[in-house]
Amino acid sequence: MILRQRPATSDQRLTGSAEIHEIFFSFQGEGILVGEPMVFVRFAYCDLACRFCDTPPPKTPTLMAIAEIAGEVSRLNAAEGPFRFVSLTGGEPLRYAAALRGLLPRLIDSGFKTYLESDGTKARELEEVIQWVHLIAMDIKLPSSTGMRPFWTEHESFLNVARRTEYFIKVVVTGSTPAREVNEAARLAARFNPNTPFIIQPASPFGDFRDAPGADALPAFVRAARAHLEDVRVIGQNHKLIGVR
Ligand code: SF4
Repeated sequence: MILRQRPATSDQRLTGSAEIHEIFFSFQGEGILVGEPMVFVRFAYCDLACRFCDTPPPKTPTLMAIAEIAGEVSRLNAAEGPFRFVSLTGGEPLRYAAALRGLLPRLIDSGFKTYLESDGTKARELEEVIQWVHLIAMDIKLPSSTGMRPFWTEHESFLNVARRTEYFIKVVVTGSTPAREVNEAARLAARFNPNTPFIIQPASPFGDFRDAPGADALPAFVRAARAHLEDVRVIGQNHKLIGVR
């Protein structure tokens, strides 16, 4: 298991800066905006250790001031754009809620829509920034897929805040995922909004991880989710298919 957490010496409460893994332009590879060109700000580290994770923590993250991050987004937008969205991704961007409170208004002032990709466990931090978030891609972490404990309570708290803006839900399924876990996730989502887009994302092989689900397993996942929700889709990681980051 790879430890995703940042070293204990790092300051998690940095306000005017954040530890950044990378900033780049690409095409969104997951979820309801698949194919949308955008700038990605990838924050370093998270608090989970999902066994399917394809984003190993960086050895040497870059500590960047908010102005530097915004400047790099603008530079990429001028060079490769114009783009509609900036993705705040990770790692877990909500580890840097204080920095996001400075960064997100700047991005909006520059004309971008903000797209937050989150593991869906940090409701308090989401509360701090929700007013500047246009769209949330929220993970519901299934224990069979992550290899970790369930996070149903954390996800419920997160949804209670996320519903103040637009959001959709993504569940990563593996060859070990039972349909009952997808059913449980969909049931939780439906309690907040039965029209929530619910994306079932088959895990991709990566590194030592080889437990991707077979195609014949997918219909049962869809049926399990459709028991509670209208808008259920299966979307893989398109960026890997087209060979971009
Ligand atoms: S998948 Fe996301 S939440 Fe899970 S370990 Fe990787 S970066 Fe962290």
